[in-house]
Amino acid sequence: MKKLLLGLTILIGLSLQADFSLTSKIYVAGHNGLVGRAIMKELESQGYCNIITRSSRELDLRNQQSVNDFFAQEKPKFVFLAAAKVGGIKANWDFQADAIYDNLMIQCNILHASYVHKVEKLLFLGSSCIYPRDCPQPIKEEYLLSGPLEETNKSYAVAKISGLQMCQAYNYQYGTNFISCMPTNLYGPHDNFNLQTSHVLPALLAKFVKAKQENLPIVPVWGTGAAYREFLYVDDLAQACLFLMKNYNKSETVNVGTGVDLTIADLAQTIKDTVGYAGEIIWDITKSDGTPKKQLDVSVMAQMGWQAKTTLAQGLEKTLAWFHANGGLRLIQGRNG
Ligand code: NDP
Repeated sequence: MKKLLLGLTILIGLSLQADFSLTSKIYVAGHNGLVGRAIMKELESQGYCNIITRSSRELDLRNQQSVNDFFAQEKPKFVFLAAAKVGGIKANWDFQADAIYDNLMIQCNILHASYVHKVEKLLFLGSSCIYPRDCPQPIKEEYLLSGPLEETNKSYAVAKISGLQMCQAYNYQYGTNFISCMPTNLYGPHDNFNLQTSHVLPALLAKFVKAKQENLPIVPVWGTGAAYREFLYVDDLAQACLFLMKNYNKSETVNVGTGVDLTIADLAQTIKDTVGYAGEIIWDITKSDGTPKKQLDVSVMAQMGWQAKTTLAQGLEKTLAWFHANGGLRLIQGRNG
């Protein structure tokens, strides 16, 4: 009986093995974003040569008809779904209607069109911030939906959780191969440095550069500094995404991170030192810390043979160099292009 079950498992695994070859037609949704650009770079560096993209101006992924027409015409075989409405604490709170509407629409349209037009394999990106606010640490994949969500990003989280569930439901009912992963906080070149909408790391980097250039004596930083966060350099995530596309065929989502976290106070100090700012940090405790801690358990990826390569110090140096070479403080005004 055991042998029969093992045989069946291998057969199912083999039947899901998609032919992800260098000439496969690959659609990277969200190729202009932080993650999408890193995935494009990794695909190109590994020799993939049949990649299709559309900007949001060319194809609004919230529009079902446009998405269906695009899939009918292009018939991609592999999809990296890195298009989403993404923001830091403030943006997720201020624009919570956009966070839930845009993300639900983008996911529903792409996932359903991928099923209808027989995409062989799709990777959906969740996020570590959609785990319950107070779940045990480090966070295992199975803790999803085990408790109340963080209030400041509930709309975003509900949308993203729906995307994960949708992948599983389509795999169950239609036999698709829609996989997903849960990246921790990301950073790197092409991040969003706009202080109104950015995540904590790019916001701090931009603030310290500005303070240094303008000789400001203090830099106010949101919260108490006590919350813990984990950060992954985006090129490492892109490598993980390709690794999963090649090697992973299960419905269960999988965490992608370094497994190491630090306090926001330590992060701020590290960025301050990297930038070379000599002034003081002042904590604005009227602002929320968000979730107190969210460190991922990355043992599933480790068991499969993948781990992050870039240290925080290396990643910050690369990001700062990119920031200076690509507009510097002008990037604070808007989303970089
Ligand atoms: P970005 O904001 O950098 O990029 C998102 C991309 O989505 C943009 O390039 C944009 O295209 C595209 N997009 C947004 N709305 C639409 C639309 N209506 N139609 C077509 N395209 C659209 O996000 P990230 O790269 O940071 O995030 C990508 C994924 O990674 C998301 O699913 C996110 O949840 C996940 N993730 C991100 C983390 C992070 O720290 N950044 C952490 C964990 C997960 P255009 O530029 O053409 O307008």
